[in-house]
Amino acid sequence: MSRSLFGELLIEEKEAERAEGPFASVVLETTLDKELDYAIPPKLRGIARPGQRVRVPLGKGNKPAFGWIVDIHPTSEYPRIKPLSGIEDERVLVTPALMELARWISRYYFCPLGTVLETVIPSAVKKKIGLGYLQMVRTAASTKAIQKLLEKTRARKQRAVLGRLLQLAIGEGIEIHKLAEEAGTTPATVRKLAKAGVISISSEAEWREFEKPEGTSQKLEKELVLNEDQQRVFDELLPRMTNGEFSVNLLFGVTGSGKTEIYLRCLSEILPKGKTAIVMVPEIALTPQTVQRFTARFSDVAVLHSGLSQTQRHRFWQQIFSGNARIVIGARSAVFAPLPNLGLIVVDEEHESTYKQETAPRYHGRDVAIKRAQLEACPVLLGSATPSLEMWHNTNAVLRTAAKYDLPLVSGGAQHRAGASHFHLLTLPHRVRGLALPTPELIDMKVESKMRKGVNLISARLAHLLRYTVETGKQAILLLNRRGYSNFVYCVSCQEPIHCKYCDTTMTYHRSTPVEQAGYVGGRIEKGIHTGQLHCHYCLAVSPLPAQCPTCGKKLTLFGLGTQRVEEEIRRLMPELKYARVDSDAMRSGSDYESILRQFSVGEIQVLLGTQMIAKGLDYPNVTLVGVVSADTALALPDFRSAERTFQLITQVAGRAGRGDSPGRVLVQTFLPNDPTIQLAIRQDYPAFAERELANRKQVELPPFARMVRIVIRDEDQEKLHKLSEELAVTLQGAMQKLKDKTIRLRGPMPCPISRIAGFYRNQIVLQSPRAEMLQDLLKAVRSETSIWRPESVAVDVDPISLL
Ligand code: ADP
Ligand code: ZN
Repeated sequence: MSRSLFGELLIEEKEAERAEGPFASVVLETTLDKELDYAIPPKLRGIARPGQRVRVPLGKGNKPAFGWIVDIHPTSEYPRIKPLSGIEDERVLVTPALMELARWISRYYFCPLGTVLETVIPSAVKKKIGLGYLQMVRTAASTKAIQKLLEKTRARKQRAVLGRLLQLAIGEGIEIHKLAEEAGTTPATVRKLAKAGVISISSEAEWREFEKPEGTSQKLEKELVLNEDQQRVFDELLPRMTNGEFSVNLLFGVTGSGKTEIYLRCLSEILPKGKTAIVMVPEIALTPQTVQRFTARFSDVAVLHSGLSQTQRHRFWQQIFSGNARIVIGARSAVFAPLPNLGLIVVDEEHESTYKQETAPRYHGRDVAIKRAQLEACPVLLGSATPSLEMWHNTNAVLRTAAKYDLPLVSGGAQHRAGASHFHLLTLPHRVRGLALPTPELIDMKVESKMRKGVNLISARLAHLLRYTVETGKQAILLLNRRGYSNFVYCVSCQEPIHCKYCDTTMTYHRSTPVEQAGYVGGRIEKGIHTGQLHCHYCLAVSPLPAQCPTCGKKLTLFGLGTQRVEEEIRRLMPELKYARVDSDAMRSGSDYESILRQFSVGEIQVLLGTQMIAKGLDYPNVTLVGVVSADTALALPDFRSAERTFQLITQVAGRAGRGDSPGRVLVQTFLPNDPTIQLAIRQDYPAFAERELANRKQVELPPFARMVRIVIRDEDQEKLHKLSEELAVTLQGAMQKLKDKTIRLRGPMPCPISRIAGFYRNQIVLQSPRAEMLQDLLKAVRSETSIWRPESVAVDVDPISLL
């Protein structure tokens, strides 16, 4: 025992003796929340740099592991230091600017730096998928020296190589095989010159000619003439686009007001100055239509979307990295595009919840965009017809409501990170070309259901307008924000819906037969015909629909509605109608969606019926009718953002109507016709909605008047869950006392609203404070308690957007 201890000590001393600087701090590609020091062996000195991917020995057995060099320093405080095993990729994949951003994300979102870098660098890049490498030759001696050598050298082939080298411009490289061929020799001859120190040979990633995204026109479109409102906004933005300073510009413009044209003009402004830009859009808005508007105007656009192959992803990344793509369009993760010389970040539909990542690192793409812009001293342009209340509150808009509601002028939001004076509000209050906003109509479904027998999802008025619309050669969009057929299956006699076996949720019925064969009439399950399945939208469990109630054997009823059921009713009402259902069930691949949109654009499809997939970004001038089948589905969620979401959804989908010369109409069906959110949404009065909702939030101290950190703890074993939850709460409370902070409120541990998912019981602890720094200080104080932050059971969500 003592001998082995002694032995180990000896080894320690020996290694300590051997290890000399410089040292590399490395974070591993695991969930370890720690930087480890490694010695840089002599052969890697001068080559090892922060941002490179490296191989390191780990633990007692020196197991090989991958990691990232995050820093290099001359000394180390640790006594026992192993050397790096090797450099996996000589490219500095994480540029210094992105490293700083990653460090901020790691701190702010309470996530190990190694995990953050997993998100920052696409795995295709890490694994070098599909990218060729070239051996590039460059001269390493002066022209004079080469000239001299050429005169001295006898070997004819070497002379040919030297002669060719003299033709290279300073710094210009030539691929080794090409050089050898041109000089009538072999790469081996060329390599001899490298040994002599005349040339250097380095392995460099190959990038081919810039690949344009598919469907781009070669001839670039001209700019539109801005209208008066657009000109005013652009004039105000112009100095901020070019002054090399950080600013956050919220462009609040009603749907169809020409926001995209403003983005395009800002891009035209910065590109000639050698700057580059990121344009972020929600994934669902990454339609060919949106992308086309950018590729039609600019020639070097790289589009990052989820449908790219690994090879394409890596190629694009490399092109962006080497400065050959100047505009990057993509969803959330585009914020990490390694563009040199960043000059602008545009975040379209800034309010979209898809910008928030729901797995670690749980970052918000918009907030990271703001941070990146701050670090790189460039402007951010956020656009929305329904801004998030956080951003609205952060801009000058708050000044107007402040006086009325006695709101504090400086509170949460990104202000702490950015400083309030950097926030600017710009507005486009009208649609372009004098087009009117669609005429709204509210249908009270309570009245409707009293007048008619049976279950009717489509009111008489909506059915009439649908018919009229397609008869006059126009098109319509119908929105229902839930997929499936019915959102629960209910036994009237037991008064119980069928629950998921693994979750604290009800099962959703999805029909699997085509509509024409379905045997369900008015929500009743006809005996003997049950071809559908029950799906759980949380754990994705699937089970057959039972013929009768599993408990009492009585008949089951389908309650609530989903897109499939609306489809069935449409079929019944209008058998001739050419429609398409667009939801994630119907759209298995991106190309399905694209082909439907194509058919819709040429009028082969008359009506699109779907979930929020169709609410965003579509610009089809022939759409004159938008129907919201039920405005109530989102309102019912037990989440403080449900009113905000409902307002956004109705306004966004309404914005699809009347974009052409014919005026649009929006029909909203609801059982809650007097609900203020619905009332304001159909009037598309965002400022009034924001004022009202902010006053509500202020009263109960919810974001943006408070900042939140949500900690979700999960375990299959309830006992263990409670133990860990208590431990966490005690640790947090202890730290709060030490911080002597009176502003933080800790609630819980308590069960989550959905208390079980996929067999895991779930608890939550919610921390709240009017000030973000307080919560950050608290998290910092407890971060080293690694025994409680078990990544498989504890999820920390800073600025959560959902509380389910
Ligand atoms: P938003 O992004 O605010 O919804 P868009 O930028 O999509 O609005 O503009 C709506 C439509 O108006 C688009 O078809 C666009 O090409 C057109 N448009 C935008 N600005 C102008 C303009 N100044 N003159 C004419 N048409 C315009
Ligand atoms: Zn489930």
